[in-house]
Order: sequence, then structure tokens, then C-alpha cells
Amino acid sequence: MADQFLHTEIDFLKGVGPKRAELLKKELGIYTFGDLLNYYPFRYIDKSKVYPIASINSDAAHIQLRGRISNIQTLGHARSKRLVAMLTDSSGEIELVWFKGIKWIAPTLKPNVEYIVFGKPTRFNNRYNISHPEIEPVENSLVANQIDLQGVYFTSEKLSSKGLNAKGIFKIQKNLVSQLHNHIPETLPAYLLERLKLIPREVAVINAHTPQDEQMLQKALFRLKFEELFFLQLSLLRQKLIQTKKLKGLVFDQVGNRFNEFYENYLPFELTNAQKRVIKEIRKDVGSGHHMNRLLQGDVGSGKTVVALLTMLLAIDNGFQTCMMAPTEILATQHYEGLKELLADMGVSIRLLTGSTKTAERNEIHEGLENGSLDIIVGTHALIEDKVQFRNLGYVVVDEQHRFGVAQRSKLWAKGTQGVPHVLVMTATPIPRTLAMTLYGDLDISVIDELPPGRKPITTSHRYDSARLKVFGFIEQEIKKGRQVYIVYPLIQESEKMDYKDLMDGYESIVRRFPIPDYQVSIVHGQMKADAKDYEMQRFVKGETQIMVATTVIEVGVNVPNASLMVIESAERFGLSQLHQLRGRVGRGAEQSYCILMTGNKLSEDGKLRMETMVRTNDGFEIAEVDLKLRGPGDLQGTQQSGLMNLNIADLTRDQQLLQVARSEAVEVLKKDPDLQHPDNQRLVMGLQALRKTKKNWSRIS
Ligand code: ADP
Ligand code: MG
Repeated sequence: MADQFLHTEIDFLKGVGPKRAELLKKELGIYTFGDLLNYYPFRYIDKSKVYPIASINSDAAHIQLRGRISNIQTLGHARSKRLVAMLTDSSGEIELVWFKGIKWIAPTLKPNVEYIVFGKPTRFNNRYNISHPEIEPVENSLVANQIDLQGVYFTSEKLSSKGLNAKGIFKIQKNLVSQLHNHIPETLPAYLLERLKLIPREVAVINAHTPQDEQMLQKALFRLKFEELFFLQLSLLRQKLIQTKKLKGLVFDQVGNRFNEFYENYLPFELTNAQKRVIKEIRKDVGSGHHMNRLLQGDVGSGKTVVALLTMLLAIDNGFQTCMMAPTEILATQHYEGLKELLADMGVSIRLLTGSTKTAERNEIHEGLENGSLDIIVGTHALIEDKVQFRNLGYVVVDEQHRFGVAQRSKLWAKGTQGVPHVLVMTATPIPRTLAMTLYGDLDISVIDELPPGRKPITTSHRYDSARLKVFGFIEQEIKKGRQVYIVYPLIQESEKMDYKDLMDGYESIVRRFPIPDYQVSIVHGQMKADAKDYEMQRFVKGETQIMVATTVIEVGVNVPNASLMVIESAERFGLSQLHQLRGRVGRGAEQSYCILMTGNKLSEDGKLRMETMVRTNDGFEIAEVDLKLRGPGDLQGTQQSGLMNLNIADLTRDQQLLQVARSEAVEVLKKDPDLQHPDNQRLVMGLQALRKTKKNWSRIS
């Protein structure tokens, strides 16, 4: 039976045996034939091309050569002991070297036999050599067998030492694949195979490991990647369906006085089309009887706050309380101040609750929340505490969601007394949409993709530390024009002491260059007490100080429209999304704004690309794409929980388009058959079950 074969223990595969089996299990989590078949190459080398030795002119890439060997000898002693041989073809010669495994390799090298050699040339003493090449007689080689493409597998040192290097794994795969004969069941319904022109699963597996040719390899990879992404999407969408069925949504069906009054009399500007669209999306959701769990993505400065406010008023109009949660005290305070001002003449009651709220005030707030006299509470994590109880919480806004975990979200949910409150999560860290859909599979997504009119794009430049005096000159100019300036220093936990010193040194040199009484300089960092921080922050907000020296505490949300210049020190130490967030602190007023990225003279390739990207574009989504390419999805928040890190063959950075296809196919399938009851879809039911099992297996290894 098909099943039995795939579940056979790996020990029983020819060429494996108990010792190697033990290692395969321990190092790679490969327990069965099926597991091994699921272990795909990470790249393929084209062995159809053989190069003349004389054509080697760089130590760039791996290369395949063909020739006879001579002068086989062992040189040196003890640690410098090495085996060398000369490989010669009609164009020239090159030295081959082995430092390890000499005792195994030496006897296999025969003079005057023709070999195929594969390896990476390196230049040493003005000559090229190849150390630890793969080598085998032409007659055994893939070239002779007319196989062009060979998969390269990740392996470990321990496995390599037992003969399971990249090629060793290829050999056992080949062995296993050659036994396949209707052993791998199809997992996709015939109608999908047909529509997307997918090859059968077994054929795909065979060709992924031992490609017949380039074309079949591409078909195999397409089929397998599609399948993987498709099942992931299908399972996410199914979960969401089940969840929305389970949760009854509170219904906000009135657009009442508060909303209208604010919209007509107090809204200080015309909404952008994107803002209008998103408000509509939210209104439709909260009026539908479904529970809303929505992610609002919008670049810094795109105007998410007013969307939150209007929809909060909608909740209040329907008799509910609302809360807005922010990740830092500064940001919560700023939201509170901003909202209070906008609502000043509206008779909506609003309070602020943070870690530093005094007991007496805190008690008052608790009471107001419990008796329902408070409409809006703005705050930090303090809002999650068990002591905070509401009379009828109906709507929760969470700003900058990447700082909050799923667990915290659900704690807020639990505070609803008449049902689960609707949730709007706002983030300014845009991630590519397809990825967002997968990461936050349980959320719906709205995007504000338009900035309010009249914004001038921020001009960004990159300067080396050596240009510091000029940069100071520029700071002076901006201040003379009446503008304010941020100077930001990195503060990374691992090197906190050094960073703190850098910050203080920087602060001192700024104060020396911009002395009192002509200039006032604020400083804000994480080691300051909350009230001291707040005091300094407020001085800057009110325009009493012209320069704000700070660590990344200002990263999130702070709004000072008169600030027109952001200088980021040691910019190479920040990630792209963080740089983008920081830059978003300027460009909020009508004036031309600037961002200067200061770095040392030595930059890594990555560092250079990050600076270039920042200089080139202000578009958060474009920056997010580059970030994703540089860091891979593994570093993105949320990827761990989502199952994306366990992808076997698909790769989110490269296969985004395919992800999109997989997503829409999954949507389509569920639209027609939400419970997957149609006989055609029974394969899908089984596939989802299998997916649940693999998830468990993964937790077993990591
Ligand atoms: P973010 O999306 O980064 O949270 P904010 O909500 O803080 O952005 O808005 C940034 C600034 O833009 C604020 O000063 C806000 O008053 C202003 N703003 C928001 N929407 C509009 C609009 N439609 N027209 C003009 N200004 C707007
Ligand atoms: Mg904001």
C-alpha cells in the first residue's frame, strides 16, 4: 500500500543502515521514507557543462572540469598534511587539494583515468586550485549517464563525516526515488490539476530529486510549491471561516450623532479616498453581525488615527465603550492629547491610563469604565491588567501591533461583557500584502495607500561620519529657519552600555556646538524616569527646544509637524523597517523635510543596500520588499507562529506570486464548498489532516 511504503523507517533504505539512520533522525528530522522524500534540494547544479581548465578566471562559482590526474602525492606533516594531485586537460592544469579524509580519498585516485571534477576554484599564490572537489571517474559520472541536473542538499558536518554530504544525500534519494511506483498518492483534486496544468504528485517528487531535464524540474517545483502554499492558505482560511461562525459579532448598525457631529463640524481636513474606503470597510464589517478582526496597514503619516477615531465614535453611537492601546507611554499620551483636543467640544469622555497613572486617578478611571460613564480609554499595557473591567467594551484599537502578541490581543477580547469586542490593529510596518495575508491569516486587511495631500516627499541622503561638520552646518540652517531637529542614536540591548555612552558623547558634542542660550537641546532615552522623559518630550513638542537627541524611543508615533530634519546616527545598525519608521517622524508639516543617514566609512553589502534603498524611495511597501529579501521572512514578526517558517520547498521571498495564486485558488475552493464536503474535495480534507500532523512533527524537532 502506498501509505506503508512512505512510513517505512529510514533504517531500511539501502545505503542507510542504523548509524546513518540515527543521524538522519537527529540532525534532519528524517524518520521515514516519506520524510526523506520531503527533504528537497536547496539548489541544482547543471552538470551538463564542462569547462576547459584554462577558462578559469575568477574564484566566483562552482565549476565542472574534465581531465586526467597525475602527480598524486601526500605533502606536509600532522596538521599541514595534505593530499595533492594535478588535473590536466587539453587547455591547462590545476591543482586539487584535500586536507581531510586523505586516507579514504588517496586510494581512489588513479593516474591516467579520466575524471569529472566539480568544485570551487580559489586563487592561492597566483594560481588557482580547488580544495575538496567532488571527483569521480567519467564512466560513473552523471555526464556519462546523461543526467544534467543534480540537486544539492543541505547537510551537517556530522552527516558528512558519515558519508552523507550533499552528494551522499543525493545518492540515497536517488535510490529511494528509483523504487517509487504509484507510492505517492495524489493530494490535489483533478479539477485543480487540470486547471493549473500541474503534473501528478509522484512525478513531481521524482523530478524534484532527480530531474529528467530543466523543463520537468520547473514543472515539478511549480507543482510542489503550489501544493505547499495552497494547503497552508486553505488551512488558514478554513480556520477563519470556523472562527467567524463561532463568534457572534456585536452589531453597530447606527451611524449616530457623535459620528455625524464630528464628521460635519470637527474633522479638521477632508479625508483622503483611502481613509474613506477603509472606514467603509470597517463599517460594513461591524454592522454585519460578524466579528471584526482587522489589520489596518498604512505608512507612517497616512492618517490612521482619524480612521480609528471615527470608527470609535461609531462604537460609542451604538452604546459601546472603546479603548485604544499603544505600545509606549509617550505614544499613548500623544494619542490621548490628540484625541482629547479633537473631541474637546463633543461631550465624549476620554481618559488616559498608563503605568504611571497615580492611584487616586486610576481608581477614578476604573470606576468610570465599570459604570459606563467613560467612553474612550487610551493607554498602554496597563489596559490589559485584570483590574481593568468595562461595563460594555465593544471596540478595541491597537496601535503598532507588532509589539503586541496574540495572547495580549485575546486578553483584551475577554474584557467584552456583551460579546467579543471588534478589533482594529493598526500598523505602520507595511509588509507585502500576500505575506500579510498569510502571517495574519486570521485577520482581514485594510490598506491606506495614499498620503494626505500637500505632503512633500522627504529628501534622504547618506553621509559618512567624516562629513559631520557639514551636517552640523545643515542642522544650524534648518534651526535658523525655525524648524526642529531629531538626532537619533541606536540602542541595542546587547551593547547597551556602549550605546548609552555613544548617546551621551553625542549629546555633549551637540550641546557644545549648539550652546545655550541660543539653542535648547532635549534628550530622551530609555534609562530616564517616565516623568523626566515626558517633560523633555513635551518641551520639544511645544517648540521650546530645537533639537531632540534620543534613542529609538521616539520611533513610534510621535507627532511634531514642525520637525523637518531627522539625523540618524550609526544608521547602518538599524534595519530597514526601523529606519523607515524613524524617518516617518519628519515630513509631517508643510515644509520640505530631510533625513540624513550617518554611517561609518566601512559598510557591509547589506548596509550599503539599506542606505541606497532609503535614499531612493519613501514608499514603505517597496522598502518592505527589500527588507524581506535581505532578511528573509524568518526575521519578520509573526512568522514563527504562522507555519511559514516550516515551509519545505516554497520560499516566501521568491515565491510571492505563487503564494497569491495559491491564495486565490483556496478562496475559490472554499467559496464553492466551505465545508469541503464535495467528493472531489476529499483529497483536500486528507491533505489538511496531513498538514496538522506535520506541524506536530515540526514541534518535535525544534
Ligand atoms: P499615522 O498613520 O502615522 O498614525 P497620523 O494619524 O498620526 O498618521 O496622521 C499624520 C498627520 O496627518 C496628522 O497630523 C494628521 O492630523 C494628519 N492627517 C491625517 N489625515 C489627513 C487628511 N486626510 N488630510 C490632511 N491631514 C491629515
Ligand atoms: Mg500613528
